[in-house]
Amino acid sequence: MDGHSSCGKSTMAKALAKKIGYTYVDTGAMYRAVTLYCLRRGFIHGDTIDEKSLEQEMDRICISFGKDSQGMQYTMLNGENVEKEIRGMEVSGKVSPVSAIPFVREAMVLQQRQLGRDGAVIMDGRDIGTTVYPNAELKIFVTASDTIRAQRRYDELISKGENPVYEEVLANVRERDYIDSHRAVSPLRKADDAIVLDNSSMTMDEQDEWLMSQYMRAAAE
Ligand code: C5P
Repeated sequence: MDGHSSCGKSTMAKALAKKIGYTYVDTGAMYRAVTLYCLRRGFIHGDTIDEKSLEQEMDRICISFGKDSQGMQYTMLNGENVEKEIRGMEVSGKVSPVSAIPFVREAMVLQQRQLGRDGAVIMDGRDIGTTVYPNAELKIFVTASDTIRAQRRYDELISKGENPVYEEVLANVRERDYIDSHRAVSPLRKADDAIVLDNSSMTMDEQDEWLMSQYMRAAAE
């Protein structure tokens, strides 16, 4: 599943994975964890990223996923649970430029292919259908209007106890859309054989139902 920022891909993907017993892989979380590593190591100064230092330390960045007692997946950076920190505005503000660095993408794509090597995986991101798994059995491209996506992200941040400003969230959604779809390596784009879902005016139940029907159809082929 690929698509724009904050369009609810991960919620849908997680729900389907749970129902059909597949593993869910959140590739955005992996790029977010690399970004957090950069911020902590002081590799980001304003709009500049110290790519040389990051490249030297790339092999020291180990990203993995764990599950809490309620079965909720969380992201680990070198063994530490960083789930909360990677979802904040600081990481969101820097993740797209970090993700545009070719050696970062190369390392993440390699790990993503490892994670999916046994099949039965639902992976969500920006380049899954075009680069990571061009032969996937089912490709979905999810989108929604940017104001609706910003509102959803805003509500999510509020529910997590953060104090976001709607205009900043909207600006971040638009900025990420732009950077993600204009970068040189693996830009965000719909794979030719992906099915588009615009969920701007759909409820969660409607989109879950739609996704399940797509899965059933693909599984029967
Ligand atoms: O999915 P999420 O919004 O958490 O992704 C955060 C950022 O990670 C995206 O805006 C994009 O810059 C980057 N990303 C990417 N390729 C992926 C997944 C995410 O470049 N496969």
